[in-house]
Amino acid sequence: MQAWINRMSLKQKWAAVSAFVIFISYALMCTVVFISLNSWLSYQEEREAKRTVDDLVALIDEQGARLTIQDIQENSGLMNAIVDRSQTAYILNIDGDAVVQINNEAPIYEDTQRTFIETNEAVIFNRPIQIGPFLGILQVLHPLHAFQQLMQYILIAMVIAGFAALLLSALIGYQLAQYLMKPITALSAEMMDIKENGFIGRANVVYTADDEIGKLLHVYDAMMKQLETSFEQQQRFVSDASHELRTPLQAVEGHLALIQRWGKHDEAVLDESIATSLMETRRMKKMVEELLALARREQVDEGGVANVYETVTQITQNLTALYPNAQFHMDCDPQVEVAVPENALHHILKNMLENAVKYSGQEPHIHVRTKIEENRCKIEVEDNGPGISDAHLPHIFERFYRIDDARSRDIEGTGLGLAIVKTMVEKHNGVIFVKSILGVGTVFIVEFDKNKA
Ligand code: ADP
Repeated sequence: MQAWINRMSLKQKWAAVSAFVIFISYALMCTVVFISLNSWLSYQEEREAKRTVDDLVALIDEQGARLTIQDIQENSGLMNAIVDRSQTAYILNIDGDAVVQINNEAPIYEDTQRTFIETNEAVIFNRPIQIGPFLGILQVLHPLHAFQQLMQYILIAMVIAGFAALLLSALIGYQLAQYLMKPITALSAEMMDIKENGFIGRANVVYTADDEIGKLLHVYDAMMKQLETSFEQQQRFVSDASHELRTPLQAVEGHLALIQRWGKHDEAVLDESIATSLMETRRMKKMVEELLALARREQVDEGGVANVYETVTQITQNLTALYPNAQFHMDCDPQVEVAVPENALHHILKNMLENAVKYSGQEPHIHVRTKIEENRCKIEVEDNGPGISDAHLPHIFERFYRIDDARSRDIEGTGLGLAIVKTMVEKHNGVIFVKSILGVGTVFIVEFDKNKA
């Protein structure tokens, strides 16, 4: 039984339970109605029989002493009017023989002692009477066929209606369960699909109602989106890392082989190989750190505001310590706040400002400006560096893209900084763009929502 229940689908269980509950309540209700109807109708039948008896007794008493049994035998019209056509009435003598008979629907009931008898077929009333000198018994037999037939019809109708209700409730229960289970069925199909094919081709389950199922789907959807993002990030991290780390690893391997073969005795080779290996190792370390930062930054938390002036001041102070030649010129409204968490704004501006300093040669002059346009705030970072040619401009936000010219080659970098910045800017409802003139300088511009408060 337990195994059978376990094997049933939710829809079947639902249909079975609703049918069972409806059937039981219907059966209970029918039993109560049937019993009450039965006792009420049988009481009515009894009353009808009793009225006949009482009327007959009253008639006989009224005529009283004047009446003889012959009168009644000869003139039974009045009694006929009182006795219903389905009833039978007898006047019996002491021996129990019929002296008068009205209608002939039922034989005399032998027991004349008890005043009221109820059998399956009839109710019987016996009354002692006296008509002149005649002493006898008045017996009225009231048949119950019609009543019993009626009750039988009612019972059959109730049973038929009961089974119809059972069937109908099972059907409605099944349909309802099917309707309610539809999104769950679609969800499980989607989960199976994801299990077999991964996140590719994930078709969202459409369900607009704001009920429990709607909420469940909402949570599921949000969870799947998170998982999908993490999965993509993980895949990208693995492919980026394996692709980008191969070159420096090969370089280190090559140099170590060089040392093994000749370097042990040739100091020049030894020095150069160790220096290059160290440099490549550092580069790898930085790259891994940045790749991890990129993966983490893609899921930064939302909300928060930052003061642009304060953030820029903090960054420029740090950079001045690192690059004493750099000069920063600020044209920022100290009140302006943007709808970006402080950490994120710090990371974005630090990257832009550091690039500006790094790529601007010996005397970097960096201008930072804020411009308010309606609900948006533009932050511009302008440098006096070599500029970026039109050929490179569309690519500088790509991962690992570095301009491989004579000047940039000596500047340390991984080509990941701007990719991280762009991801973060877009995550916070911002845009980033760049304008550059070769030999004059470059302006990086980020634009965010202004904090409304
Ligand atoms: P990284 O600085 O680590 O190389 P980025 O993603 O920050 O990586 O920058 C990508 C490339 O864009 C840099 O290698 C550099 O050639 C170029 N670039 C970035 N900022 C500037 C700038 N202010 N002036 C000139 N070139 C720049």
